[in-house]
Amino acid sequence: MEVFKTKSALKAFIAPLKASGKKIALVPTMGALHNGHISLIKLAQENADVIICSIFVNPTQFTDPKDLEKYPRPIEHDLAMLAEAGCNGVFMPNVEEMYPQGADEKWHIDLGNAEFLLEGAFRKGHYQGVTQIVKKLFDAVEPDLAMFGQKDFQQVLMIKNMLDHFKLPIAIITCPIIREDDGLAMSSRNIHLSPADRAHSLVLSESLQFVIDHWAEYTIEELEEKGKALYQGIDGVELDYFTIANGNTLEPAKSKDENSLVVLVAAKVGSTRLIDNMIIK
Ligand code: AMP
Repeated sequence: MEVFKTKSALKAFIAPLKASGKKIALVPTMGALHNGHISLIKLAQENADVIICSIFVNPTQFTDPKDLEKYPRPIEHDLAMLAEAGCNGVFMPNVEEMYPQGADEKWHIDLGNAEFLLEGAFRKGHYQGVTQIVKKLFDAVEPDLAMFGQKDFQQVLMIKNMLDHFKLPIAIITCPIIREDDGLAMSSRNIHLSPADRAHSLVLSESLQFVIDHWAEYTIEELEEKGKALYQGIDGVELDYFTIANGNTLEPAKSKDENSLVVLVAAKVGSTRLIDNMIIK
């Protein structure tokens, strides 16, 4: 496995592979890797010849400087996990490499109304930062395909809108959410959970599963109400949203007949903000 810190070194590695007809997959991450990330590498291996994983904690997508500062960066552990998974190349640039003009570099594209809903409402400008860095990574790697997790459901929609905007010929593959045995969605942020937070965090997956299990029994409003009620009285858990939404627009679902529906949640558990979702149909 080769490790690259600059775009030029990465491009020099990729160019001959591309020239010989190899299919390149990019797996963008912020590091602090877990089995969710590794599942993206594995799925990439089923769909491409050469797998490049990027590790970059992107400053422009953080709305809270403290969150950026405390983001875990266990780089040796990450490299060992990627080597073990059979990843071919790792791109781990520093901030200057990705933002030579500074991290306040101008960027704004129209991502549609969904940019401002759910995560976008709580993290202003987040998806501008996400699409800004993913565009830079796409330009650096020029992959045939790129892997993203359903865990960040809204992010996948935003990336697809960005691809449409620039008419980039990159296939996006969405990978299922990998969970701990008790249902908690794996996340780099889970290490910040105290033992008590960790126990309380189960309400996220349980409330989503409640909607899936009781879909036929109740109306959309009742399902949201009963799902939210599960959070009452749980110490240190503060719900940001618990919403059944259209899977294409992320607007609140109006009818069970809509062709794509998803239930999404974000909550602060102790001082850690977690997100999760389940696809209804
Ligand atoms: P991150 O490092 O958190 O930016 O995540 C990098 C990629 O891994 C994103 O596409 C995430 O959606 C995906 N990912 C994160 N957690 C999981 C998980 N539990 N299961 C599957 N994919 C995940």
